[in-house]
Amino acid sequence: SLQKDDSAPDLKDGKGYKGHDMLAPFTAGYQTTDLHPLVIEKSEGCYVYDTNGKKYLDALAGLWCTALGGNESRLVAAATAQLNTLPFYHSFWNRTTKPSLDLAKELLETFTARKMAKVFFTNSGSEANDTQVKLVWYYNNALGRPNKKKFIARAKSYHGSTLIAASLSGLPALHQKFDLPAPFVLHTDCPHYWRFHLPCETEEEFSTRLANNLENLILKEGPETIAAFIAEPVMGAGGVIPPPATYFEKIQAVVKKYDILFIADEVICAFGRLGTMYGCDKYNIKPDLVSIAKALSSAYMPIGAILVSPEISEVIHSQSSELGSFSHGFTYSGHPVSCAVAIEALKIYKERNIVEQVKKISPKFQDGVKAYSNSPIIGEIRGTGLILGTEFADKKSPNDPFPPRWGIGAYFGAECEKRGMLVRVAGDNIMMSPPFIITPEEVDELISIYGKALKATE
Ligand code: PLP
Repeated sequence: SLQKDDSAPDLKDGKGYKGHDMLAPFTAGYQTTDLHPLVIEKSEGCYVYDTNGKKYLDALAGLWCTALGGNESRLVAAATAQLNTLPFYHSFWNRTTKPSLDLAKELLETFTARKMAKVFFTNSGSEANDTQVKLVWYYNNALGRPNKKKFIARAKSYHGSTLIAASLSGLPALHQKFDLPAPFVLHTDCPHYWRFHLPCETEEEFSTRLANNLENLILKEGPETIAAFIAEPVMGAGGVIPPPATYFEKIQAVVKKYDILFIADEVICAFGRLGTMYGCDKYNIKPDLVSIAKALSSAYMPIGAILVSPEISEVIHSQSSELGSFSHGFTYSGHPVSCAVAIEALKIYKERNIVEQVKKISPKFQDGVKAYSNSPIIGEIRGTGLILGTEFADKKSPNDPFPPRWGIGAYFGAECEKRGMLVRVAGDNIMMSPPFIITPEEVDELISIYGKALKATE
């Protein structure tokens, strides 16, 4: 039943919240009687503490987002100062606030893979991707191409969980029982080389095959009907999947050939996660549109944004007399407190040369965890920078998934939790993306807990 636990509401072990009142996101088990939520109360650097005072190394940085860790006083001061000056004003109808104007300017300077012209603010990554779809439709309507409306995304991608973002996502759990994906979304191959390459196929050949498959899909649907292609530079929630060699070069050539816009979903990758400011820098992607969120404010306040190319923003502005204003936006688009925090986060990234810091610590993190690749229950450990996924598989028959009832990822995750570390679990995959500020000693601790949890799981 959905009844609250009858026992004394003792927060210390979360028991008072068994069968609690939240319909919690992505959480199963409302009907089970033995599930207690892990209630997190406090954070400090790369650590969080539960209500029992137990300390955990936050190996996922919240949800891939608390880049500067848990108690960055400058972000708190920036929020407080803004709250004391102007807690809220909106950005509709040519009224706006200084923090939103200043952040837009700053953001455009951070993106150097190509020139971007405008920033649209949202509250989240999902809203950013919803905005992308509406913006692209508006753009094609402005250009008199009302049929160019379909989107191509990739299997195993994650772009958020609102109606449109969940449709774009290529994860079946986001579609089943929700009547999704929407018919304007098509999905193409996941670029997961280890899992999907053919015998003897090199990474380059695999990328060529995927680009050919994409081209065939476009031709089958009719290029005049395809508006945009959306991709995460490194796929996150789908299992941490970096692109195989030459993948983005070949994919970009195909979409360009058919006048299809390229949207880079940088919600996880931006601001240093991969050891570059943006994923686009790392993989030489020249997108037309970019989605960002998460590390933009180091998650201290909710904020997302999209960056818009000069070509698109010009069309939108030049056509606006005919179509009227771009009638899209949220009460909290450009929220001054979120923007003030994001401005401070960007300042800190620059001052502390956070990208270099990530680049420097990454080999220790990557090599240390990848040293466990020989485990008989690991298929592949993959990642780059400060993002890493482990795909559990039986080395003797890697293509046969472990029986789901074993819940091997969940088992490993629980073994980590027992030992004071939080990771992301998704089926036979577990994922880690620690704060950018992780120290060498903390990386050692992460590797040590990973190794012990792995032994217990084997
Ligand atoms: N895009 C990507 C690549 C993500 O990883 C996520 C969230 O994890 C989103 C979009 C959705 O962001 P939000 O949860 O802020 O809506």
